[in-house]
Formats: sequence, C-alpha cells, structure tokens
Amino acid sequence: MKIYISADMEGVNGVVLKEHVDPAAREYQPARQWMTAEVNAAIAGAVAAGATEVVVNDSHSNMANLLVDQLHPKAQLVSGPGKPFSMVQDLDDSCAGAFFTGYHASFGTPQAIHDHIYAYSLIESIHVNGQQVGELGLNAGMAGAYGVPTLLVTGDKALAGEARALMPWVRAVAVKEGRGRLCARCYPFQETLKAIREEAEQAVRNRKKAKALIFKAPLVLEVRFPKVEMADAAALLPGAERIETKVLRYETAAYPELYRAFLALFRLARSVF
Ligand SMILES: [Zn+2]
Repeated sequence: MKIYISADMEGVNGVVLKEHVDPAAREYQPARQWMTAEVNAAIAGAVAAGATEVVVNDSHSNMANLLVDQLHPKAQLVSGPGKPFSMVQDLDDSCAGAFFTGYHASFGTPQAIHDHIYAYSLIESIHVNGQQVGELGLNAGMAGAYGVPTLLVTGDKALAGEARALMPWVRAVAVKEGRGRLCARCYPFQETLKAIREEAEQAVRNRKKAKALIFKAPLVLEVRFPKVEMADAAALLPGAERIETKVLRYETAAYPELYRAFLALFRLARSVF
C-alpha cells in the first residue's frame, strides 16, 4: 500500500517568519528540521497502519527542503525544482491515499500564516468549476482525478478549517493558530508531532471512509491576477480566454491538463513580476 505525501513548509509548527521559508536565510535551517520531523511523524503513522511504500514530494519553493538523511527509512523523496507536476509530482492512481502536510490557507484568509497561492502578490484567487480553491484544493483535486482520497492535512488552524470545509471526511491537524500573517500561537511541538502521527495512522486505517475530491468535466479553471500586466502575460497561453481584465479562463476535459494550464499561467505571470 502506497501513501503519497505532498509536503509544504509554511504550515509547519514554529514557522512564522518569511526567513523561516527562505533557503537563503539563517532562520531557514532549523525550520527544515521542523518540517522533516512533521513529515516523519506522518510517515510513521502511515507505516503503523500498514503502508509499505511512502512517496514524499518536497513541495516548497525550490523543493529541496527536506533532509533526506533524516527522513524515515521507508520514504522515497521527490526533490528539486522544475518538476512538471510541481506540488503533486509522482502522484498517480497507484496511491492508496494522499497527505498534505505543512500546508497553508488560501490567499486572503485572515489569521492565517503566509496565506497565498503559489506566490504572494502573484495569484489573487483560483476557481475550479466555480468553486474557490487554494493550493490544498487544487492539489487534492489532482489526487481526486486519479481516484486517490485525501486522508490527512496538517497546517495552521485556518488551513484545518479550509480543509474540513472542502473535504468533510479529512483528518486535519492544526499545529498553530495564526495571529496575523507572520505571527502565531504555536502549540507544544512534541504534542503536535504525536497528533500528526496518530491522525495519520487513523486516517490510513479508516481510508475506506474517505473520498476522492472530484471536480467533474468539463473542467473550468479561472485564475485572477492582482495586476493587469500579469494577466497580459498569462493570456499568451493558447486556449486561455480573458474573461475579465485580470481573469483568465481555461476549459479542459482532463484534470492533469487543467493543472498544467495553471502552472503555465502562473509561470507566464511570474515573468513580469
Ligand atoms: Zn510553500
């Protein structure tokens, strides 16, 4: 039984500063340890529930944050930038369930640490089939397209609320409560590791009760950019339709294509950031 983990960093316990998630900063080094500890707790829970294979996709920034030599011996690590499927690389229908750890709430959420979608000040909102989603919804939708249920989500309290609203079956572990974008009340670190381990184990044991997040075809992606010039650049994508000054629409029958369209729109917009 294979469990898939997409591991982000902003939602890790203790992470509050921009420097915590910036590989060039001194404060980043301990934050990598915290991130690795949380992922290990999730893996340990999955293994205790019978997982024989765990694929961890490092999903933050340059995607080479997790410390491979400290990672649980059962895990394989997908690491490094430029992955064609980014935060969901190597996720496919051979996985029995998906975890999203260290995730953060969608852009515009109050009292949420580092609320953003892919990049702060670059994407204002994403809708799939008219429903607003953040990184969690976009990535869980990709799992759902492969029939893979989302079992566990970890991050701050706002993210846990976002997860439960989108996927009522999901086990969500809050490790801290945002007091603003860059400040939080962090729960006791060892206790949150224990909670992640226990919830991961229960999530895998009860995986038959969980569901895949399915967006039905035809799939309609709408991306709103904060600036007109970003939408100008994104509009170069063939098939993208400009439905408002700052909103691009893309329609497709297949979720992996929607995901790639999103990445293409994002990278085009980033070129003028
Ligand atoms: Zn991140």
